[in-house]
Amino acid sequence: MLIFSFIMAQTIAIIGAGVTGLAAAYRIRQESPDSHLLVFERDEMIGGMAKTLEWEGCRLDLGPHRFYTEIAGIEPFVRKLCSNCFVPVRRRSRMRLRNKLIRYPVSPLEVVNVLGGGSSLAIAWSSIRHLVPGKQSSINTYKDYICNRFGDRLYKLLFGPYARKVWGCDPSDLEAETAIVRLRGDTIWQSLLDAVRGKGSSFVSTFLYPTGGIGQISRNLAACLKESELILNMGEVFPVVENGKCTGVRNRRGESWKADAVLSTIPLPDLARSLFKPGTSPCFSADVLQFRGLVLLFLLYEKDLAIRDTWLYFPEPDIPFTRLSVPKNFHPDNVPSGKTVICLEFPCEPGDSIYQTGESELRSIADKYLRRIGLAHCNATAGLVVRLREGYPVYRIGYRNHFNAIISALKTIPNLITAGRQGLFRHNNMDQAIQMGLIAGEQIVRSPNASTEWYDGLSRFDGYRIVD
Ligand SMILES: Cc1cc2nc3c(=O)[nH]c(=O)nc-3n(C[C@H](O)[C@H](O)[C@H](O)COP(=O)(O)OP(=O)(O)OC[C@H]3O[C@@H](n4cnc5c(N)ncnc54)[C@H](O)[C@@H]3O)c2cc1C
Repeated sequence: MLIFSFIMAQTIAIIGAGVTGLAAAYRIRQESPDSHLLVFERDEMIGGMAKTLEWEGCRLDLGPHRFYTEIAGIEPFVRKLCSNCFVPVRRRSRMRLRNKLIRYPVSPLEVVNVLGGGSSLAIAWSSIRHLVPGKQSSINTYKDYICNRFGDRLYKLLFGPYARKVWGCDPSDLEAETAIVRLRGDTIWQSLLDAVRGKGSSFVSTFLYPTGGIGQISRNLAACLKESELILNMGEVFPVVENGKCTGVRNRRGESWKADAVLSTIPLPDLARSLFKPGTSPCFSADVLQFRGLVLLFLLYEKDLAIRDTWLYFPEPDIPFTRLSVPKNFHPDNVPSGKTVICLEFPCEPGDSIYQTGESELRSIADKYLRRIGLAHCNATAGLVVRLREGYPVYRIGYRNHFNAIISALKTIPNLITAGRQGLFRHNNMDQAIQMGLIAGEQIVRSPNASTEWYDGLSRFDGYRIVD
């Protein structure tokens, strides 16, 4: 009974109101209704990467966000949370290759049409050559994995240039995990290979989308909080550790709050730098772990552009963006009729010239390429730039050792845990963020002073696959 009343009375601080932090808050509220919760967010809005912005009368997600999961229990949880207010959306994707747009799922005929019969045969051969006994070699890097699964022809044509564009480095410097996480069976890339090999495809071609935009999921999670428990626009907040225990949180303005336990979803390197002295092993490792940045450019057109795709891929290096998405094709209410918004994703290094480019300059860069590829024949009337400093964690060779060094140091603080896409340096989707948040919330209520239990159980999140 005493233990029970301690649990009931505790104050739990959560840093970050993205999907992970909010799912944790939701579970804490369920498990321990009388706990005092404080959720701190640096921005003025909740939702993190999975927020929905309001702009020029339109509802915009940060890039194409669809809800899809293979994790047991997560879809029913989200359906119930959102009172089943989802629409099924038909996925329509194309990929631009050799100045042509290839439909998804890819048909063998289309591939031969775009690549030519000779190239298609060469790709098909190179993708099965490694199956010959004695041809297999060890798979350590992104390049090894792709060459082994898709063949070196497709690597040179598509995957190598695309990886350089997305991750900003040589694919031989990336762990094979980078490809394994992202290139599961039913991707447009596998579809291309199947088409080259003359195989049919059996792809999931629909996904779920909340009627209020993807941010609806975060809004419904946050509904469990009282107004005073959600503290927005805080600037950066960090845990405070005294004598080996976390005593609360503070922001850069000098304000602080007491807490019995803290769940952080802030980027892992930022967390390490805030807690450990410069020059120590976790701080050194924090400087090695890097994120690739992402700049999103939204363009508004005062007409219905005839783009039926939900999103399109641009793997070729001569085009500076990697993907184009069309919010009205996710839900018609996202953009008023008679208008179209498109969203372009420019991968970059946080702080580089693309990251710093202003809206009008980025618009002229985009216009030049959009005209060239024949996707926008009129001028956009407005543009909006959103910068994500932590777009994707970069799994450089050896990154795990640095990740583990930080986790070992964090294990010494019993009442502080880190979770989420940035917090665990993990390329994941919303469904895993929700799963992580729910488990982290449960853990913090049941064992607020046993962070080692959380860290020792992290392998339960391994084996996750991104569905592109
Ligand atoms: C372009 C793009 C497309 C995607 N498409 C999909 C998709 O189709 N389907 C899908 O399921 N997932 C998709 N995702 C992934 C999905 O958005 C993420 O997995 C999920 O939103 C991660 O949630 P999180 O809470 O872990 O992290 P975040 O969303 O990053 O939340 C962390 C929060 O912490 C806040 N914060 C950070 N530092 C501090 C600090 N010091 N103090 C206070 N607050 C702080 C941030 O502002 C943020 O709100 C996509 C991601 C991107 C970038």
